[in-house]
Amino acid sequence: MSSVHELNFLKEKINELKEQGVYRKLPVLEGANEAEIILDGKKVINLSSNNYLGFANHPRLKKAAKEAVEKYGVGAGAVRTIVGNMDIHEELEEILAKFKREEAAMVFQSGFNCNAGTIQAITQKGDLIVSDELNHASIIDGARLSKADKTIYKHSDMNHLEKVLKENRDKYKNILIITDGVFSMDGDIAKLPEIVELAEKYEAMTYVDDAHGSGVLGESGRGTVDHFGLHGRVDFSIGTLSKAIGVIGGYVAGSKTMQEWLNHRGRPILFSTSLPPAAVGAIIEAIKMLMETTEFTDRLWDNAKYFKEKLGKLGFDTGNSQTPITPVIIGDEAKTMEFSRKLFEKGVFVSGIVYPTVPKGTGRVRCMVTAGHTKEQLDRAVDIFEKVGKEMNILK
Ligand SMILES: *Cc1c(COP(=O)(O)O)cnc(C)c1O
Repeated sequence: MSSVHELNFLKEKINELKEQGVYRKLPVLEGANEAEIILDGKKVINLSSNNYLGFANHPRLKKAAKEAVEKYGVGAGAVRTIVGNMDIHEELEEILAKFKREEAAMVFQSGFNCNAGTIQAITQKGDLIVSDELNHASIIDGARLSKADKTIYKHSDMNHLEKVLKENRDKYKNILIITDGVFSMDGDIAKLPEIVELAEKYEAMTYVDDAHGSGVLGESGRGTVDHFGLHGRVDFSIGTLSKAIGVIGGYVAGSKTMQEWLNHRGRPILFSTSLPPAAVGAIIEAIKMLMETTEFTDRLWDNAKYFKEKLGKLGFDTGNSQTPITPVIIGDEAKTMEFSRKLFEKGVFVSGIVYPTVPKGTGRVRCMVTAGHTKEQLDRAVDIFEKVGKEMNILK
């Protein structure tokens, strides 16, 4: 008799993954997340991190983290509503609001957590959530936690969005339009000016998840809202502190009313311990650095343009990217994974992304260029792309 503890129902599912060829082990990184890394024992150029600005191992952030540990210890010790709201958490929200050019900011323990906590807190039964079909998983999960009805519109299709708004406006109390600021698989930017226009026309609220826009777009990385000059017209501006900012955490920037409400009804604020002091100290330092200079974002964009141009000249299809996210579209799923594997053998780590993460037949490796890469590293990576591309007949 098999025991319930053997979890046979999971073993069967794991075997299915193996049969489908999608079973995997987690790659192991030895040391910090840098432009060159040792991954699974092999030295490679890292084109897969979200460490856009090279902050994850930056000396100034590390120093700030150590100082915060000395003063505040390693843990906050409680949720914010009890006794885990340290003065540095307040300081962080103040500097974030200033940086984002918004009235207020509310910090969460992660970007994922922020979406999960915020969407359900700001919507209720009788409301409608209208979501771009390519929105991030944490938005989908956040929407699932809400009692509001949900509907999706075709990716960045403004005619479809308008149709949905027109058909539903009178049926619902509040409507919340949610979009990623930058879409992570293609690197395209949301059509935010048009979305905001439609939102205002149909009296809907707007919610932008700028995980890949914060620290990347706008003045010194202030994000997609700043990039388009839409301050005051986007109600909820979400960012992560774990990608370009290099640490961990998420936040909503917007009005004081938003912050007041999330203080009372943002479930991760009430039921999950606040960010550890080291993280908070490092993030404050990162935001200060971005407010001091645009050199980090300048270098990021310079590197991204350099790399994208070189790949394009060789004849690779880099899709519709408008940001440092550089997909190299291969198409066939198996070929994409083989391309990624061969690049790794020759010294570049860039993960393959295939169906169901992206539509069938649009498999790609997704290159993440950062401010931390040197031109020499990018040149070496391009050479390896060329070699493997020719070897596999992707390039003529
Ligand atoms: C990465 C990502 C998140 C999650 O952010 P974390 O801080 O890593 O939890 C949320 N939304 C989008 C669009 C993302 O790309």
